[in-house]
Amino acid sequence: MYCTPIKILLVEDNIADADLLQEILAAADTTQWSLVHVQLFQEAISTLSAAPFDVILLDLSLPDKQGLSTVAQTHETVPDLPIVVLTGLNDKVTAMEALRQGAQDYLIKGKIDTELLIRAIFHAIERAQTQKKLRQSEEQLQRLNEELEHRVAEQVEELKQKNQYLQREIAQRQHLEEELRNALIKEKELSELKSNIISVVSHEYRTPLTTILSSAELLEHYSQKWPIDKKKRHFQRIQNTVHHMTQLISDVLLINKAEVGKLEFKPSPLDLVVFCRELVEELQLTINSQHYINFNSQAGCCSVYMDEKLLRQFLTNLLSNAIKYSPDGGNIQFDLLLSKDAVSFRIQDEGIGIPTKDQVKLFDAFYRSSNVGTISGTGLGLTIVKKCVELHKGTVTVESEVEVGTTFTVTIPVPQDRPDSIVYNKLS
Ligand code: ATP
Ligand code: MG
Repeated sequence: MYCTPIKILLVEDNIADADLLQEILAAADTTQWSLVHVQLFQEAISTLSAAPFDVILLDLSLPDKQGLSTVAQTHETVPDLPIVVLTGLNDKVTAMEALRQGAQDYLIKGKIDTELLIRAIFHAIERAQTQKKLRQSEEQLQRLNEELEHRVAEQVEELKQKNQYLQREIAQRQHLEEELRNALIKEKELSELKSNIISVVSHEYRTPLTTILSSAELLEHYSQKWPIDKKKRHFQRIQNTVHHMTQLISDVLLINKAEVGKLEFKPSPLDLVVFCRELVEELQLTINSQHYINFNSQAGCCSVYMDEKLLRQFLTNLLSNAIKYSPDGGNIQFDLLLSKDAVSFRIQDEGIGIPTKDQVKLFDAFYRSSNVGTISGTGLGLTIVKKCVELHKGTVTVESEVEVGTTFTVTIPVPQDRPDSIVYNKLS
C-alpha cells in the first residue's frame, strides 16, 4: 500500500541527469509523484530532517560528499527511508557495496527508463517496509527475549532464596533433633544412674546398718560386763561405719550435682607444691606403715589457678585407691610434672593392677574391676575424679598391668589468658 502522491527526494548535482529523471517520471502518468530536487548532500540531510519522504534517489558523487559514506550517513539519519543509488556505468562494484550498506536498489545513469525507474522505486519502498517490519519484529523478539531472561533470572533468584531458606530450616531442624537426641541420651543416663544409685545405696546401707545395730545391741546388753577397751572398739566400729555411710551419701550427692551441671567450679590461686605436700602428710597419718607415699615435684613452688575443693577430691580419690588396691603394701609414687601450658599429677602404685578389659569402663559410676576380691568400695571414686578433672578442662588416663601396678595421670591445661595461672621456681 502506497500513499499517493509518492514523495521523492532527488539528490543529483548534474542538472541534465536530474532533468532527465524528472522527464522519465513525468512519462509515468499512472502514478502520482511529488519530487523535491537538491544538488548537495547537506541540503538533502536538512530536507529529510524537515519533512517525511517515501524514497530518496541518491547520486553517489556529490560536490560535498562522495562514495559509500553518502549511503551510510543517509541511512543513519533516516533508517527507514528507502534509498535508490544512482551510479555511473562503470561503478557497479560501488553500487553492490551500497546495497550492503543499506540501500534498497541502484540505477545506472543513462540506462534508466520509466518502467525501470518505477519498478526500482516501488521495490525499494516495499523492501524498506519489509526490512522495517523485520527489524521491528526482531526488536520485539529481542525485547521478549530480554524480558524472558529477566523473568528467568528473577525466578532463579527466588528459587535460590527459597533453597537457602530451606537449607537453613533443615540445618535448624537437624540442630534441634541433635539437641533433642542428646537430651534424651542424658535423660536416659540420668535415669539409669538414679536406679543404680537406689539399688547400690540400699544394698550398701544394709551391711553397715547391720553392723551398727549389732554393735549397739551388744553394747546395750553387755556394756556392764565388758572391759573399757572392748566397749571402745564397738563404739569405734559404729563411728567408722557411720563415717563410711556419710561418705557414700556425699559421693552420690556430688555425682548427682555434677550430672545435673550444678557442681561448682571456683578456681583461685594456690601453691600446688605446698598443697600436695600437705595432702600427702594428712593421708600418710591415716594409713599404716605398710604404705609410703613418695611425693616429688619438678619445682620448689608452683602457683596455679585451680579449684581447691575439686583438686582435693580427685587427688584424695586417686591416692586412696593406690593405697587400697596395694593390699600387700608398697611404695606409692606421686609426681607433680610442670610444663609451660599444663600441670600433670602422676600417681603410681605397685598394687593388684587392673585387667585390660575393665580399664575402659573404670570411670562409669559403680563400675568395679573383676579382680577387686574382698577389697571394699562402691565404684564411685573414679567417676568423681573424672567430673572434677573435666571441670578443669583436663584429662585423666590410666596405664595398668595386673599384679604389677597402676599409674593414673591427670593433666590440667593452664589457661593462657591468665599470666598468673602458673609460675614456678625450678628446683636446682
Ligand atoms: P570408692 O567409691 O569407694 O572409691 P572404688 O574404689 O571401688 O570405690 P573407684 O575409685 O571408682 O571405686 O574405682 C573403680 C574401680 O577401679 C575399683 O573398684 C578398682 O577395681 C579399680 N581401681 C581404681 N584404682 C585402682 C588402682 N590404683 N589399682 C587397681 N585397681 C584400681
Ligand atoms: Mg576408690
